[in-house]
Amino acid sequence: MNVINPATGDQIDTYEDEDITEAKEALDTATDAFDSWRTRPLREREELLSDVADILGERKQKYAELMTREMGKPVSQAKGEIEKCEWLCNHYAEHADAYLADEFHPSPAGSAVKTSYEPLGTVLAVMPWNFPFWQVFRFAAPYLTAGNVGILKHASNVPGCALAIEEIFRDAGYPEGVFQSLLLPSSSVEDLLADDRVKAATLTGSGPAGRAIASTAGEHLKKTVLELGGSDPFVVLDDADLDAAAETGAWARNQNSGQSCIAAKRFIVHDEIYDEFVDRLVDEFDSLTVGDPMDEDTDIGPQAREDLMEELHEQVSESVDAGATVEIGGEPLDCEGAFYPPTMLTDIPEGCPADTEELFGPVASVYRAADEEDAIAKANDTEFGLGASIWTEDRERGERLTHEIDAGCVYVNQLVKSDPRVPFGGVEESGYGRELSEIGIQEFVNRKTIWVE
Ligand code: NAP
Repeated sequence: MNVINPATGDQIDTYEDEDITEAKEALDTATDAFDSWRTRPLREREELLSDVADILGERKQKYAELMTREMGKPVSQAKGEIEKCEWLCNHYAEHADAYLADEFHPSPAGSAVKTSYEPLGTVLAVMPWNFPFWQVFRFAAPYLTAGNVGILKHASNVPGCALAIEEIFRDAGYPEGVFQSLLLPSSSVEDLLADDRVKAATLTGSGPAGRAIASTAGEHLKKTVLELGGSDPFVVLDDADLDAAAETGAWARNQNSGQSCIAAKRFIVHDEIYDEFVDRLVDEFDSLTVGDPMDEDTDIGPQAREDLMEELHEQVSESVDAGATVEIGGEPLDCEGAFYPPTMLTDIPEGCPADTEELFGPVASVYRAADEEDAIAKANDTEFGLGASIWTEDRERGERLTHEIDAGCVYVNQLVKSDPRVPFGGVEESGYGRELSEIGIQEFVNRKTIWVE
């Protein structure tokens, strides 16, 4: 694996790929580790997780810079990501015992009937590069604390992050084999997943990768959680606070250099305020600083890889050729590195890439909606169903409309965001299952019914 710094185009590291034989050896180690890890008191597993949180806090700068070098995330946002992982670990360190407490059921006199949450075994996690720490901790913190052991196959462009996360668990005192990172090509994942000793799998990534995992897991009857792509609508109604909506909307589209599953990708704007809102959104896009991701003041860094930027530009160019109007941006920056500016498209023809595909970069598709009903119809006119955001000064109206949108979460007057306390996940092409909160930690457990007479 050659790691290229996307801000400069320079190769910064090389790692040896592992193969399926090494992956199977890791699986031996994981299986051995599970035997004693599962019986370790939950309180002790929580304490170890709390130590992980401390390490993240102490090494925040180092890990943030690693992320920035490998995938180009602006370093200020990378530090925010480490802080969020710390919060997540502290959350489960504090609440796992309550989330996994036995649940008693009504039962005949003399009987005791309850559900107990017991771990499954080895969980295989296939993760993406866009939040290289957060996505991994989002599965590892709850699942390991529930008594499972984890094997991570991270994205090929962030091997340093994969190994750093393994180092964190080791340094916190986790027994060998409880968390392992494999530098495995995606072509070996199917073989690994098919092994009887892998009990479940979770993937965060694209639809094709999700389908590949789901189909192998289905063949072998293994439970999966899939967190896939999105094309979230950002609906601005006629009574919205336009300043707040434009400011938040620009950030919702462009944070993480536009490479977020829950970014606001389609802006659907009520006819009455359309022109005014578009002007404000263009101004907000224009005010964002694109540049060196190591600079604390940078808002937008490079795209994570040159090929991904080229793919994004192709989607924009095809949409423009089909008739879309470029309000701002629209061409890669003429400099070293994979830099793409904040871009906004309007007059989007039906069926072009900006209309139907996920644009995984700082490009907004903006639509005019005739009225509220048309806005909701347009919001739902997608194969994805991850998040959605609705902007209105009438909270009752907003709350009512949340029920009319097909998505895993709908926020009113707020950007879509994940939070350790709240379930997260999608419907339709955005995947299935939930992470975070008590629901997340209960995804990969045996809900065992115990009846004692
Ligand atoms: P990706 O190409 O699907 O890669 C994700 C992971 O899957 C990587 O580790 C990749 O390995 C692996 N992979 C790819 N094809 C595979 C296959 N056929 N079998 C097994 N593993 C395979 O996605 P990406 O480009 O890294 O990430 C962007 C996508 O992730 C976007 O669609 C985004 O919306 C989605 N995402 C969703 C969420 C969510 O929570 N719903 C969060 C973040 C991102 P290699 O790197 O070795 O190819």
